[in-house]
Amino acid sequence: MAETTKNDAQGGARRWYGAARGLAIACPLALLLLPVSLSVSAYISIFVAVCAALLGLAVPGRPHVGKSAWRTVRESLVRIFAALHIIITGALLYFATGLFGFLIDMNFRSAIKDADRIVIRDGGGLCHSKPDNEPEIFEITNKAEIAAFNDMFKFSGQTMPCMCCGYPGIDWWRDGKRVVVSAVHHGQALRVTGFWGDLQLTFGSRRLVQEWLKENCGLTGSSSMPRYKYCRYRRYAVERAAQDFATANDGKKPTMDDLRDEFKKNGKEFPACPVGGEYSLTYGEDGLPTIKCTAPRHD
Ligand SMILES: [Zn+2]
Ligand SMILES: [Zn+2]
Repeated sequence: MAETTKNDAQGGARRWYGAARGLAIACPLALLLLPVSLSVSAYISIFVAVCAALLGLAVPGRPHVGKSAWRTVRESLVRIFAALHIIITGALLYFATGLFGFLIDMNFRSAIKDADRIVIRDGGGLCHSKPDNEPEIFEITNKAEIAAFNDMFKFSGQTMPCMCCGYPGIDWWRDGKRVVVSAVHHGQALRVTGFWGDLQLTFGSRRLVQEWLKENCGLTGSSSMPRYKYCRYRRYAVERAAQDFATANDGKKPTMDDLRDEFKKNGKEFPACPVGGEYSLTYGEDGLPTIKCTAPRHD
């Protein structure tokens, strides 16, 4: 009986040692994967650690028979690298996944708490955007609708920020002040003021947010540039056409109708504002054509 218990204890210890050995062997892999885990998803590293430990459990360590200096050193190294791997995984679990999104959800809720207005903005994050100058696409002020909108956001972790500004912008306002500025990134993450990196949305949350943006703002996953910028490029195209017209017609300044005919003649569609603003043509003191758009903040 006592013998069995001892054997069991030894077997158990060997299994734990096996798990530690698995973690130790996979430790260099964890270090190599760190940049990928931080930029794509920390769950990659966590998955590797769990697999390494489970494989190790399945292949228990041999019993330590007799004394051997090398064996003792090896077991110490296993303990050190296993501990390092556990620390790395624990740090990723805490900082990069926010304990499976729990901490990020909590901090995000407290950042947007008591917001009384939400604005979907035709722009991106603060890197290159001036939210005050950008058009509003949609506004929510109804309390129940605000709560329903906020409920769509659930996070699974955070990654290093990508290179773009994101689109569209989503801002939370409270008492006439913009308290949180954010932008959606590639339909799957939200970059939020006051938070490190890009907050990754859970798969369910991504789907809800994308559907909501499509339904209420006409935005699809491929929309990545503000519409007012598209409008600007289209106005440039008309201005260039006006200059070309003048060059080709001994300096005669074209009217809008002239330009429309010109586009038609060339088999091209006349550029239009993506949100339906009206274009008008004026000439400055320098004689250069300027196209203005009537859509709000399209200038
Ligand atoms: Zn991005
Ligand atoms: Zn416009």
